[in-house]
Amino acid sequence: MYIGVDLGGTSVKIGVISKKGELIDHKEIPTRSRGFFQVVINDILHHSNEIIQLNGYSWDDIEGMGIGIPGLLDMERGVVKMAPNLNWQNVPIKWFIEEQLKVPVKIENDGNVAVLGEAWTGAGSQYKHIAMATIGTGIGAGIIIDGHILHGKQGMAAELGHLPISEEGLLCGCGNYGCLETISSATGIIQKGKEVVTLGKDSLLTAQYKDEIDKITAKSIIDAAKEGDNESLQIINHAGKLLGKGLAIIANLFDPQIIIIGGGVSQAGDIILDPIKEGFKEHGLKDIVASVEIVLAHLGNQAGMIGAASLFKK
Ligand SMILES: [Zn+2]
Repeated sequence: MYIGVDLGGTSVKIGVISKKGELIDHKEIPTRSRGFFQVVINDILHHSNEIIQLNGYSWDDIEGMGIGIPGLLDMERGVVKMAPNLNWQNVPIKWFIEEQLKVPVKIENDGNVAVLGEAWTGAGSQYKHIAMATIGTGIGAGIIIDGHILHGKQGMAAELGHLPISEEGLLCGCGNYGCLETISSATGIIQKGKEVVTLGKDSLLTAQYKDEIDKITAKSIIDAAKEGDNESLQIINHAGKLLGKGLAIIANLFDPQIIIIGGGVSQAGDIILDPIKEGFKEHGLKDIVASVEIVLAHLGNQAGMIGAASLFKK
């Protein structure tokens, strides 16, 4: 049995996972105290302890704790070098937890644990060459080739969200201009929705949000698009097509069998999947387009926990 932790900027998900990759039980808690890492680590200790006991197990049953973390990691030493969403710098999380629990701890980039989860028990379980994009606040990604996850020197390989492919050249959170995630992430989509309202364009968004523009969410724009709102449809189409172009770059480089789309925005379904496929088809090599499947993720927000646990899979 394993513990899989998905440590995010707004919530921490802790799961008890069987040797077959089944999620036996899990709980989700808010990520408290941005910056004070010890509070968050104590929360992980406390709640994992609780969930193990609740299910009638003890720490002797647990072979390891895997943790998915959004940031720059030293995986070997188990140190979070920098995690902007958590406001952490140089946090030796492996050391802190192993000191308290006496179970081995491994850490891995959040995009990588998502694809590892889908590869273990989700949409990619029948494949050896898998690419995954996670569309949320930003755009994460993970690539598995020949059954091995692509790490790079510091676990930063496959930063799909920061491919500089948007001609609009908007400033990205990373400091560069024109990154994919300025357009195709939830953040990019919301930004475009706000523009529609600010400019007073004829749209459901303007009607609904002109007095409370900050309440616009990616979901509200997706919903308006589903109702046939033209401006919203254009935003979602544009976001999807550019993401498809980004995925074509990944596929042309790595020749995967399957591309999995996950994250909150993927819950929009075909309305985002169709333009993704269109952009992909336009820019991918013909033989690659013909052979790659693009599908929605299966595990939803459980992928991170399951993938983190898979770090201990034999
Ligand atoms: Zn960027």
